[in-house]
Amino acid sequence: MMQTHESRGSSLHRQVKSVARSLPDEKNTQSGARQHLDAPGTSVVDTPGTSVVDTPGTSVVDGIRKTSARRRGRSRMHGISVLIGCFGMFVLVLWLFSDMDREPAAAGPTNGTIPSRYEPDRAFRYLKQVCDLGTRPSGSPQMREQQDLLTSFFEKKGAKVSLQSFEIRHPETGEAVELANLIASWYPLRPKRFLLCAHYDTRPYPDRDRNNPKGVFVGANDGGSGVAALMELAHQLGDLPSDVGVDIVLFDGEEFVFEQGRDDYFLGSTYFAEKYKSQPPAVPYQAGVLLDMVGDRELRIYYEKNSLKYARDVARGIWQTADRLGVRAFVSRPRHTIDDDHIPLNRIAGIPTVDLIDFDYPRPGFGAPSYWHTEKDIPENCSGESLAAVVWVVHQWLLGQ
Ligand SMILES: [Zn+2]
Repeated sequence: MMQTHESRGSSLHRQVKSVARSLPDEKNTQSGARQHLDAPGTSVVDTPGTSVVDTPGTSVVDGIRKTSARRRGRSRMHGISVLIGCFGMFVLVLWLFSDMDREPAAAGPTNGTIPSRYEPDRAFRYLKQVCDLGTRPSGSPQMREQQDLLTSFFEKKGAKVSLQSFEIRHPETGEAVELANLIASWYPLRPKRFLLCAHYDTRPYPDRDRNNPKGVFVGANDGGSGVAALMELAHQLGDLPSDVGVDIVLFDGEEFVFEQGRDDYFLGSTYFAEKYKSQPPAVPYQAGVLLDMVGDRELRIYYEKNSLKYARDVARGIWQTADRLGVRAFVSRPRHTIDDDHIPLNRIAGIPTVDLIDFDYPRPGFGAPSYWHTEKDIPENCSGESLAAVVWVVHQWLLGQ
């Protein structure tokens, strides 16, 4: 996956800001407590007439005693308020370092059991199968192997498969590289046509990995999970309602990125969107669903804000379906704003497309360093249940169209 307007750093910044916003209350509470302790009339020590030391008519010595007692009292009270302040700060820091946005711990992505037609183990085997090819960046021999594997797979599932090829310049060497989107079609002439898509290239390097940024990037979640989910979903596509057709499109060149800021993202989806616009198909798509990073073991898919901007009704329909099915991994709250393959589909092709993405991998919070673009993005950090739950939701949403 892509780029986000809320990198983990800025997300952290946002969290800190949200804490800062709540600080005035904390401060008020603390200074309120301090005021309470210091206020004349509420402090036993300070109150004339209640303090034995302060009784009128006592000697000058008493006056001195009174002053020092008041000082002692004030200093004690000050100590207490400092303690309370410190405790408040301690709680605040604990809160800051805890997973503020974390949902209550859940055993899995669904409340109940996933129906047996969607098979978590099978979906996970697909994930392993593509990851076993190794890293799969655009133009690599592993990508070609993957194309062969998937062409044969989707043909066996009844699709007509084609490769939409195009050429780019390698961002590092300037040499020509052939890229190809893989398109698997079921019933392309039926009146209600939908686009289900993912990227199937992996980033060339795990460049956010602190230990080994030039290591091997397997991209189990970022690259593999969308492919595996759509393979699992393909088991359902031979048996669609009689007016529904589906294209599964796997985009190449989503992140053929060697240098952040220099190299372009979304090469395949942009090419696809431009072709769609210049040579419109006989039946246009009613909607698109992009799957990216949907394999996280701790799956939580929030509304992605660009999806709400461009395809609000599609997003609503999918989350409502999830809610009806008890797939609690779908959370009906917006969270990140993400640039992904759905941007060219919405902006260039005009296909209302949502991005189903769990960008918090494994979970939000300081205690969970992200696996995103690191060597930790491996099948072991993903789960078949997560994949099958997403497939269940997307398929049932499709049946309701
Ligand atoms: Zn990525």
